[in-house]
Amino acid sequence: MKKIGVLTSGGDSPGMNAAVMAIAKFASRYGMPLVGIKRGYNGLLRKSTSIYDDMEELHLDTVLDIADRPGTYLRTARCMEFMDPAWREVAANTLRAMEIEGLVVIGGDGSFHGAEHLCKLGIHCIGIPGTIDNDLPYTEMTLGYDTAVNVCVNSVRAIRATSRSHDRPAVVEVMGRHCGDIALTTAVSTGSEIVLVPEVPWRVEDVANRLNQQIAKGNTRATIIVAEGCWESMEPFDMFTFLNSHGKKCYEGEPISAMRFASIMKRMCNNAEVRATVLGYTQRGAEPTARDSAFAYEAGHLAVRLLRDGISNQVIGMKEGKVYYRSIDEALQAKREFNRPLYDLVNHL
Ligand code: ADP
Repeated sequence: MKKIGVLTSGGDSPGMNAAVMAIAKFASRYGMPLVGIKRGYNGLLRKSTSIYDDMEELHLDTVLDIADRPGTYLRTARCMEFMDPAWREVAANTLRAMEIEGLVVIGGDGSFHGAEHLCKLGIHCIGIPGTIDNDLPYTEMTLGYDTAVNVCVNSVRAIRATSRSHDRPAVVEVMGRHCGDIALTTAVSTGSEIVLVPEVPWRVEDVANRLNQQIAKGNTRATIIVAEGCWESMEPFDMFTFLNSHGKKCYEGEPISAMRFASIMKRMCNNAEVRATVLGYTQRGAEPTARDSAFAYEAGHLAVRLLRDGISNQVIGMKEGKVYYRSIDEALQAKREFNRPLYDLVNHL
């Protein structure tokens, strides 16, 4: 009887609990005891005064109740010590001492790097892609992405209703520091007129120009969807001089934000009342959609089966609509391709 562990690491994402439930279900079916490790890799470093703070034996009864909930029951956290080989040795020793032979790591690419290191220390690891950003190119979906996009779509629909009532354009910032997928899918799903992403450089003046053209065509409620990382791909713009010379106080060195961007658009678009909303954590706190929950179920099952069969160093993903696995190394090397044609389609006037 193999004992296995599970942890959630990196940013939380809807569906993490559903995956833990599925893992518990199949571990129980295959007669494999399951231990939940708390707060990502931290729970393996035995820094807490009580072991109950670091890990918990997971029974199916407990996790059945959490399957639909957002967030992660096991908690999640960064664990900077894991960059250090000596601390990773401590983690492997903890697992050996507890006779935990295999570990399921639910997280993003950083967490997968950690899992790859543990594999080299003889611990069997399987990764499940848990991140709302959809920034793992080896898989067609990551756990939480569909839920996050649905939250964004509902929010943008609500914002667009008010935008229409008041004839006001809107700026809506969604998550995605390095990946514009949430922004692009949200824009496409809501008929938003402009989308800005970290992958494609853009100029403030061009966006204002496009917004002005929308207004001139009679569309007074155009929506600009911006990914949180799009400020990095913005061509240099002197916000300090522009805003201060247009009657809006701005501090030297102040970073641009959705609010500031809306102020700039207003002043470049004949004082149109451009309003900004930052959706923030709401995107991570929703109950998982059926699509995410179903992926969590199949991924959880496959992870347990692989560990039962002694297969290690793999991550689970979706390819051509089917759940599959491939080596962590190959998965981490896969190159991401941003859907530029779709981006151009949205931004075309
Ligand atoms: P994500 O898994 O969502 O990409 P992070 O990049 O924050 O999130 O990584 C989560 C955790 O994974 C880190 O806090 C650290 O414990 C571990 N990790 C990240 N990168 C590495 C690495 N190169 N080597 C070992 N562990 C890593």
